[in-house]
Amino acid sequence: MDETLARAREAIAVARSIVVLTGAGISAESGIPTFRDAMTGLWSRHRPEDLATPEAFRRDPRTVWDWYAWRRERVALVQPNAGHEALARLERVAAARGADYLLVTQNVDGLHAAAGSRRMVELHGNIRRVKCFDRGHPAASWPSETPGPPPCALCGSPLRPDVVWFGEALPPEALQAALDAARRCDVFLSVGTSGLVEPAASLPLAALERGMAVIEVNPQPTPLTRRAWAALAGPAGEILPRLVPLESTP
Ligand code: NAD
Repeated sequence: MDETLARAREAIAVARSIVVLTGAGISAESGIPTFRDAMTGLWSRHRPEDLATPEAFRRDPRTVWDWYAWRRERVALVQPNAGHEALARLERVAAARGADYLLVTQNVDGLHAAAGSRRMVELHGNIRRVKCFDRGHPAASWPSETPGPPPCALCGSPLRPDVVWFGEALPPEALQAALDAARRCDVFLSVGTSGLVEPAASLPLAALERGMAVIEVNPQPTPLTRRAWAALAGPAGEILPRLVPLESTP
C-alpha cells in the first residue's frame, strides 16, 4: 500500500491535467450517509426510487419536499472532512504549477465548495439550491413554515430541490465538460464512488481507454478496482491527505 500510495502521489505531483470524480463515500466521514444508508428512522419505509423521481413529486409533492428539507437540514449541520480539504488543496497546488484541474462530483451536499473547491462540476445538482418544477426558475429563498413545496414567485409552479432525480437527464453542459476533461487528463482520481451509477461510471473508463493513470480511493472493491493503475483501499479522509500532503501547499 505504501509503495502504491507513493507512486500515486508522484503521478499526481507531476500531472499536467488532473480530473477527480467523487461520490457519496467522500462525505461518509462527515456523517452524511450514502443513499441507501440514509433511508433509516423516519424514512425507512421509503425507497430512494419512490422519493427521488419526478413521478413521486407529482404524486406526493409534500412527502418529497419534506424528505429533501430533512436532508437539507442534516447537510447544513455537517462540516467538510480531511478528504474534501485535501481536494481543495490539490486544486490550489495544480493551479500554482499551471496544471489543469477539474473536480466532478456526484454529491449534492455542497461540501466540496464548503471546503474551498472552486473548479467543479456538480453532475447531480445541489440539494442546497431550489428551483421550480415546471420552468426551472431558481429560488433564492422560500418560506419554510408552510407544509409542502411553496409556489414559485415567478410562475406559481411548486418548488423542488435542484438535483437530478432518477429518470432525469444530467445537465448536458456539465456532463460534456466532465467527459472532455476525462479524455484530456493524464491522472484521473476516483474517490468514494461505487461506479454503478451512469453516466458518471463511464468517466474513469474514458481515461482508461486512453491509457491514463486512474487512481481509485475506496475501502471496498468496485468494478474499477482491478483495472485501476493504482487502487488505494481505505477511507478518503485518511488516504487523500497522504496523496496531497499539507506541505505541498504553495
Ligand atoms: P454509492 O452510495 O453508490 O457508493 C458509495 C461508495 O463510497 C461505495 O463504493 C463505498 O465503498 C465508498 N465509501 C464508503 N465510505 C467511504 C470512505 N470513507 N471513503 C471513500 N469511499 C467510501 O455512491 P455514488 O457512487 O456516489 O452513487 C450514489 C448516488 O447517490 C449518486 O448519484 C449521488 O448523487 C447520490 N448521493 C449523494 C450523497 C451526497 O451528496 N453526499 C449522499 C448519498 C447519495
